[in-house]
Amino acid sequence: MAHTLIIGAGVVGASLAHELAARGDQVTIVATHPNGGVASAASFGWLNASYYLSEAHYHLRHEGLAAHRRLTERLPGLPTTWPGCLWFEATGDAQEETATGLSALGYKVECLTKRDIAARLPALGPMPETALFFPEEGAADPADLARALIAASGAKVIHATVQSLTEAQGKATGALTDSGPILADRVVIAAGTGTAGLLRPLGYELPMLKRPGLTIATNPQPPICPVILATPVQEVRQDAEGRLIAPAAADHQSDTAEALGSFPVVVNATLTRLRTLFPGHEIHFARQAMALRPVPQDGLPVAGPGPIPGLWIAVMHSGATLAPVVAELLAAEIHEEAESPLLQDFRPARFA
Ligand SMILES: Cc1cc2nc3c(=O)[nH]c(=O)nc-3n(C[C@H](O)[C@H](O)[C@H](O)COP(=O)(O)OP(=O)(O)OC[C@H]3O[C@@H](n4cnc5c(N)ncnc54)[C@H](O)[C@@H]3O)c2cc1C
Repeated sequence: MAHTLIIGAGVVGASLAHELAARGDQVTIVATHPNGGVASAASFGWLNASYYLSEAHYHLRHEGLAAHRRLTERLPGLPTTWPGCLWFEATGDAQEETATGLSALGYKVECLTKRDIAARLPALGPMPETALFFPEEGAADPADLARALIAASGAKVIHATVQSLTEAQGKATGALTDSGPILADRVVIAAGTGTAGLLRPLGYELPMLKRPGLTIATNPQPPICPVILATPVQEVRQDAEGRLIAPAAADHQSDTAEALGSFPVVVNATLTRLRTLFPGHEIHFARQAMALRPVPQDGLPVAGPGPIPGLWIAVMHSGATLAPVVAELLAAEIHEEAESPLLQDFRPARFA
């Protein structure tokens, strides 16, 4: 039985732990944040393929939705829901172009009139003339998902900070942590924004963007938002407790800001937008979570073999969407079952 060390307990490390344990590995996870990760605990948790940067990226994301569905079949009770997304981040010609482009790729897209929108979302204040509906899209709190996957994997979890990787004869042998060394047959780095720092001593520079993100949760509301709602000013969904979950940046997946701005200003602006979207409701701030999103320089995932044998890397934005599919494909590669064409555009070697 191979002993695999995974650095990181967010949704990416947890998904890998689950897939590798299912293949018979003895899995150890080491993490500074062992209870749901870092970016995973601040995520909006929208599972979608309607946002994509290239055709290969679309196909990976689309398969990501299928991988989430496979996971929920294998593990009933996961916190994943499939309400679909009502989208009018773009309007007019740009909305039509989005519909045409996605339909050409094989994505399910419904074009809604104002009357359709009102029927699906009667609580919405400002009603647009048209919107798109993406029925395949879902939502999950990635930190909840990570906790559930780690529990199901049976992995041993060590709460510690990895200071460096260890190697012998040019091959990865484990990691040195502030609690001592951990020996393993192979190492997978799924450390989010901590990944680049662990790779640097090996002479591998992983360029990452600085992309801070903030998500707020409100007090529980009656059922007012039965879909994931993406408007030009605000994205929002409602969780199982009735809370509105909302990223502070509009169109947050394309957000290029390197700073968040003043916390009270940002939170108040988000609350004001939510109150405009759902007038007549007592919407108040309940909690927030903030994190740097793990975004490689070209915005695309990084998944595959690392710079030395026995070392593997998985770091990505949209990890809520992508973690299960990347874990499935990477686990198969680690076990030399199959090299995935779906991952070909996303190899670490492109930055070497
Ligand atoms: C505000 C916001 C909104 C988002 N919205 C969406 C969305 O709607 N849809 C979507 O698909 N994605 C979204 N994302 C992105 C998604 O959440 C991330 O891509 C995903 O959570 C990354 O998971 P991860 O496991 O790689 O990283 P993390 O959750 O950051 O986990 C990294 C892990 O590595 C550990 N670690 C790091 N360095 C070390 C070290 N030296 N030693 C030990 N442990 C270490 C940490 O403790 C942690 O456990 C969003 C992110 C943010 C911040």
